Amino acid sequence: MTDNPVQIRPLVAGNWKMNGLKTAFSEAIAVAEAISKPDAAPADVMICPPATMLMVLTEVTHDHKLLLGGQDCHTAESGAHTGDVSPEMLKDAGATAVIVGHSERRSDHGELDRHVRAKAEAARRAGLTAIICIGETAGERGVGMTLDVIKRQLSGSVPDGATAANTVIAYEPVWAIGTGLTPTPDDVAEVHTEIRKTLVDRFQAEGQAMRILYGGSVKPDNAKTLLAIANVNGALVGGASLKASDFLGIVAAYS
Ligand code: PEP
Repeated sequence: MTDNPVQIRPLVAGNWKMNGLKTAFSEAIAVAEAISKPDAAPADVMICPPATMLMVLTEVTHDHKLLLGGQDCHTAESGAHTGDVSPEMLKDAGATAVIVGHSERRSDHGELDRHVRAKAEAARRAGLTAIICIGETAGERGVGMTLDVIKRQLSGSVPDGATAANTVIAYEPVWAIGTGLTPTPDDVAEVHTEIRKTLVDRFQAEGQAMRILYGGSVKPDNAKTLLAIANVNGALVGGASLKASDFLGIVAAYS
């Protein structure tokens, strides 16, 4: 399998993680304005800010094309879960999507595939697209386990009934996140091809149309190469999404 016969509109999503005070609103507004120009790149662009910024960002960017997302969610709609945020709350604050299963959630909070799957189901209940993160550690890659890990995570984390509208997969090798390291284009192609095959086997046409993002040290200077790889339908960007100029430099790969 090489190029996907289905035309997929790419998505470039920025994960701000636990970064962003009021001073950062201007970066998001700069992105919102740039991507709303008539000659903007043909890609969907999203910022996933801290939950504290979501509602205000929704208000200040409402007449632009910028999509907003959450970074994590609880599985419940509401209740006694101090410190958590529900997908319904994210939706209410203006999000259209939520990242689930990021490797930092898996390592910092012990989240397992079954937790990620439950969060993806909760996101769907609330009408949000779940951006489901998967990816191998350096150790797993070192012993040739990458494709096994990917397939196990896909099977455990992606709920039944996933569609191209309610699910995005983000392949993020753990060792590439925030390190400046990236897999070779051949390695990215191998994993994304396997992800596509697994999705098509399980979800048929929906799996063919589902977006598969690459994430891990995507920067303006490597975006064109990474985003041109077969079955790479966009990027999940951490550090380089914090500055509008860097993030727009990545989006520009689609110009
Ligand atoms: C991420 O954390 O999702 C990520 C891809 O980070 P970075 O781009 O900084 O490697």
